[in-house]
Amino acid sequence: MKILVVNCGSSSLKYQVIDMTNESVLVKGLVERIGIEGSRIKHEKTGMDAVLIEEKMDDHKKAIQLVLEALVDKNHGVVNSMDEISAVGHRVVHGGEEFNSSVVLDDKVMAGVQACNDLAPLHNPANIMGIEACKALMPNTPMVAVFDTAFHQTMPAHNYIYALPYEYYEKYKVRRYGFHGTSHKFVSMQASEILKNSSPDFKVVTCHLGNGSSLAAVKGGKCVDTSMGLTPLEGLAMGTRSGDLDPAILPFIMNKEKLSADDIANVVNKKSGVLGISGVSSDFRDIEKAASEGNKRAQLALDVFCTRVRKYIASYAAQLGGIDALVFTAGIGENSIELREKICSGLEFLGIELDTEKNKVRGKVTDASKASSKVKVLIIPTNEELMIARDTLSLVKK
Ligand code: ADP
Repeated sequence: MKILVVNCGSSSLKYQVIDMTNESVLVKGLVERIGIEGSRIKHEKTGMDAVLIEEKMDDHKKAIQLVLEALVDKNHGVVNSMDEISAVGHRVVHGGEEFNSSVVLDDKVMAGVQACNDLAPLHNPANIMGIEACKALMPNTPMVAVFDTAFHQTMPAHNYIYALPYEYYEKYKVRRYGFHGTSHKFVSMQASEILKNSSPDFKVVTCHLGNGSSLAAVKGGKCVDTSMGLTPLEGLAMGTRSGDLDPAILPFIMNKEKLSADDIANVVNKKSGVLGISGVSSDFRDIEKAASEGNKRAQLALDVFCTRVRKYIASYAAQLGGIDALVFTAGIGENSIELREKICSGLEFLGIELDTEKNKVRGKVTDASKASSKVKVLIIPTNEELMIARDTLSLVKK
C-alpha cells in the first residue's frame, strides 16, 4: 500500500510517497512559490538526483496537478498510475477541541476543520486548499486529516485553562492546545519501543527543538502537558518567537513605540526569540558560531534558550513525579551536541546523567545516557510524515 502525504502551506507544499509494506520513502518533494512568480517543484525520487520542475503554478490545484504528473512520470515517477496510491494523509495544523485523533475526511470533517480557521488563520486555510485540490484531482481516493493539536487533547483542564475570565474559554475557545503533536507522539512512541516499556506509567518528556520549539510531558503514551498554547507562540524562546512573557510587556511596548496589535504580534512572532536577543540570526548554527567567537549577546541567547528548556523539563518532571526518559528531537535536538549538553548539565538531581561521549552524534537514534543514569536520555530523529502515513493507513484499513 502506497500513501501520499501532503503538508500544504500558503505558498508551499511538501509531499512524500511512502510504501507502507516496509515504510520506505519512494519520493519526497517540495513545491515553492505557489501563486508567486518563479514557482517550482524539487522532486527527489529515492536513489535518483533531484529533478527541478519549473512551471507557472497560479494556485494549489495546479501545484497538486503537477505533483501528480511527476508521481506517474516514466523517469522520475514512483507509480504507474494514481490508482496505486491507496490514500492521502494531510497535515492539518489546528483541530481545536473537535478533533482528538486523526480522521477520514468527509464533508462534516471539512466543516469542522473550517470552523478551526479562526484559531490558526495563517495555517488552516492553506491546509484546506491542499485538501480541496487533492479531492478535485483524486475524487475516489480516501483522505485523512492528521492534526498537530490532536495528541495534546488528553491534557487535563488544569493544564489547558488559562487564568483568564472563564467566559473567554466558553465564548472563543481560548485555551492551551499545543502543537508539534505528531512529532511528540512519534518520538514518545519510539522511546517506549526502544526502552521496551509500554506501561501506562511510562513517563517521558519530549523536547522538539527546531525553528519552532516545544516540550511535552507524556505518561503512558498520553500527553499531560505541553509548552505551546492557543498559538505556537507560548513556551520556549524560539528562533524568532519570544515564548513566555509577562503579558503586561505588550501594552507597555505598544504605548512606548506606538504599535498596533498587529505590529506587536509581528514583533513577538518574527523579531524576538534568539534572533531578538542576539541580533545575529534565528538559525542556531549561526548563533553557536558567533558565541564561540566571543559574541556576548549570542551567548546570552543560547543561555536564555537552554535555561527555558531546563525550566520546562524540571516542571514536567515535577508534574509527572519523576521521569523515565528525556527525548531530544528536531533540527536542534537531533543535531546540536553542545546544546544537549548544556541543557542536561545540572539536571543530575532529577536522575538525568548525559554521557558526553555518547552524546557526540547527529541525527541518529542514540541512547546518550550514562549507564548509571536513572533517566534514559534519547536522541530520536522525528518523522512526522511517517506518523501521518501510519495514521492514514490504519484509518483507511478500517
Ligand atoms: P523547522 O521547525 O523549520 O522544521 P528544524 O527542525 O529543521 O526546523 O530545525 C531548524 C533548526 O535546527 C535551525 O535553527 C538550525 O540551526 C538547527 N540546526 C540544524 N542543524 C544543526 C546543528 N548541526 N547544530 C545546531 N543547530 C542545528
